[in-house]
Amino acid sequence: MRGTAAIVGGGVGGLAVGAALATNGWQVAIFERDAGPAVTGTALGMWPSALAALDHLGVGARVRALGTPQAAAVFSRPDGTRIGSLDVKGLRRRTGESVHLLSRPALLGLLRAGVPESALRFGSAIADASALQKDYDVVVAADGIFSGTREALFGARFGARYTGITAWRGQIDTMPTESLIETWGRGGKFGVTPQEDGRTNWYATTVAPERAFTPGRERAALRELFGSWHGGVRGVLDAIVEEGIFRHDLYVVPPLPTYVRDTVALIGDAAHAMTPDLGRGACEALIDAVTLAQCLDAHSSVVGGLRAYDQRRRRPTQRLAVVASTASRLTRWTRALWLRNALLRLSLLAPTPA
Ligand SMILES: Cc1cc2nc3c(=O)[nH]c(=O)nc-3n(C[C@H](O)[C@H](O)[C@H](O)COP(=O)(O)OP(=O)(O)OC[C@H]3O[C@@H](n4cnc5c(N)ncnc54)[C@H](O)[C@@H]3O)c2cc1C
Repeated sequence: MRGTAAIVGGGVGGLAVGAALATNGWQVAIFERDAGPAVTGTALGMWPSALAALDHLGVGARVRALGTPQAAAVFSRPDGTRIGSLDVKGLRRRTGESVHLLSRPALLGLLRAGVPESALRFGSAIADASALQKDYDVVVAADGIFSGTREALFGARFGARYTGITAWRGQIDTMPTESLIETWGRGGKFGVTPQEDGRTNWYATTVAPERAFTPGRERAALRELFGSWHGGVRGVLDAIVEEGIFRHDLYVVPPLPTYVRDTVALIGDAAHAMTPDLGRGACEALIDAVTLAQCLDAHSSVVGGLRAYDQRRRRPTQRLAVVASTASRLTRWTRALWLRNALLRLSLLAPTPA
């Protein structure tokens, strides 16, 4: 079917679903609360299934050309010795693809190009998505982790929950890398990945009280936590400047009983925000977007299309969220690290979901 769609949120999921529906002949309006396109943001890893979704949106080739393929993924201890590695060659054999990394603004720019210019309404915060239902055939909630639409539909008990873990991220222009290198220590980890244009994306996590940010002292906090780790980590810490550090606490969304209600569908983090340990949240938002557009195309009613979308996407994304939470819990261990590392090594032997 074709019709009119209101999309709340112009992030990865919102722009992707806008582009997919517009291609199928829908009239779309994307309401984004920010005043203009995002200009900051570090790298997102695009897994093969997300690259297939991007192909469907007509931008896969550009993402592969602009992004940097990840040559290897190695996990090590703070002294630099190796715990294990991901079977990147096996992933390439199975799918013909590598994970490609590119920055959030670059990805959003490519997605935006697929959306009719008149559809994008910046500076439009939607307080009540249900009010859109009378003017549009379908409403897509792509309003992220703290989705107001999700809370209005499902109540406060489905609000985002703090995981107890905080994250720092940023990028540096020196010291390019071709691989993901993640170092796991006592109660935290420090990682680097490639990014487009020869830049390096870095991130770190540790257990911390919620909102215990230390503006102006984040670099010092990172040095206290990771400054005694191996030379690769210390080199990145030396290159980081305070102004380039993003700090977020990590939240998850409890599993929802359904991703659809009446003529409203939830996609991306609004539906299934997971910890970033697998690097899959944006990938799943892209797949949700393409699947939702396909389901609406294949059905003669919005309700039928949304039901099919829920059936196709809820179980796989909720399973992935459980795996991500398990990985996140492993990073919190402060004792029996030999056992924790053995569990990590074992998990790396399982075939990686593409
Ligand atoms: C540290 C970290 C590392 C990550 N690494 C990766 C990775 O490597 N690979 C990967 O796939 N994913 C990764 N992710 C996850 C990824 O960032 C998210 O899953 C993804 O951005 C979700 O996209 P979304 O469109 O659902 O939500 P968002 O990108 O959050 O977009 C939501 C949009 O809705 C807008 N909005 C919110 N409320 C309203 C409103 N009321 N009215 C109008 N607009 C509104 C917001 O301004 C925003 O633009 C990572 C996340 C973190 C925290």
